[in-house]
Amino acid sequence: MAEEGFLTRKFGEGVENYYSGSPLNRLAFLRTNHTYLSTALQHPSTRFLLLNSLDPLSSTPSTLAFVSYSDISPLISNPYTKTEEETLETFTSSIDHPVLIFLGIDESASSEHTITTPDGKYTGQAYFSVDVTPYPHASYSSAADGLLQGLKVDHPTAVFRTARKDLNLDKEHAAIYASARTLTNWNVTAPFCAGCGQKTLSVNAGTKRACPPKDAGVETRKCPSREGVHNINFPRTDPTVIMAVISSDGTKILLGRQKKWPKYWHSTLAGFLEPGESIEEAVRREVWEESGVTVGRVVIHSSQPWPFPASLMIGAIGEALPGKEDIYLGNDPELEGAKWFGFDEVKEALGFTSGLYEGTPVGYKEGALRLPPKTAIANQLIRAVVLGEIHLAKI
Ligand SMILES: [Zn+2]
Repeated sequence: MAEEGFLTRKFGEGVENYYSGSPLNRLAFLRTNHTYLSTALQHPSTRFLLLNSLDPLSSTPSTLAFVSYSDISPLISNPYTKTEEETLETFTSSIDHPVLIFLGIDESASSEHTITTPDGKYTGQAYFSVDVTPYPHASYSSAADGLLQGLKVDHPTAVFRTARKDLNLDKEHAAIYASARTLTNWNVTAPFCAGCGQKTLSVNAGTKRACPPKDAGVETRKCPSREGVHNINFPRTDPTVIMAVISSDGTKILLGRQKKWPKYWHSTLAGFLEPGESIEEAVRREVWEESGVTVGRVVIHSSQPWPFPASLMIGAIGEALPGKEDIYLGNDPELEGAKWFGFDEVKEALGFTSGLYEGTPVGYKEGALRLPPKTAIANQLIRAVVLGEIHLAKI
């Protein structure tokens, strides 16, 4: 974003929020190309991110750890030896497979680690993720257990750490983890077809679940997902609105707090977008329901993938209407409190932020306002309002 293009001159710098900005090219058009996937899978430099109950294998709190095909092949073997059609034809619901996802390629990797796509156009180091959780009901449970025991011997310094508690990943690793986590969680929580209730099979390199026409050679029931255009077997992304609300006189910002948060911690209001609602309407409804304040103009600021489990945070800035700014918490019990804060108090608090689970930051004075850290889109929205770090549209 170094160059000053037309949009930057007109609207100010863009914001790339934490959990976005993956260094990987997803090569989505190659997800059914099993020749390519098979080569990529078995390349000695290909990197595998392992998830255990959605916790990623990591070498430090800020760095993911990756293993190679030789580490993981006893659990996954090579599912790409057959075409996708053949895989569907030979589907057997009593045999489970760990969720395996092709995440993409890092085109900046050095040449000895890379492979090239069959058309010769794209070269990079391949990344996959594997769900190694030893689910008790899975037919590969004991193989997953064995793999976890072997990891402790072969990779003694790598451990599975819990996101938002024990991890503070670098931005690029956070983005790789976000995709892997969301897709894995969707695969394991959508084992049955929404159209007919039969077991589904993960295809398209982990980004789609198909309802197979046969199970162990026997034809399955007719299913609406196999006819026409349907999207019932694709991953979910749940839109969520999150908004900084500015007072009508432009001097205060509305923040709320939930009971479970640390003392003095406040953040922007947020909520799920409902079907049949525009982003702007969802912002107005959520703010009114949770705080009693009526919002007029809404401007969209930036967005953030939020892989807990599958949200897309749509960050907005709203402006309260004059005379409709009194706080009323009686409609919705979600917030313990909501309050208008003057910009000076908020500017000071932006200097002392830390994560929800990280304890108070150095230099923090007990009793002062606490705000989310820069990795949260809420922080970016608050900065935009009180520091004017972006210029909103002035056409
Ligand atoms: Zn079905």
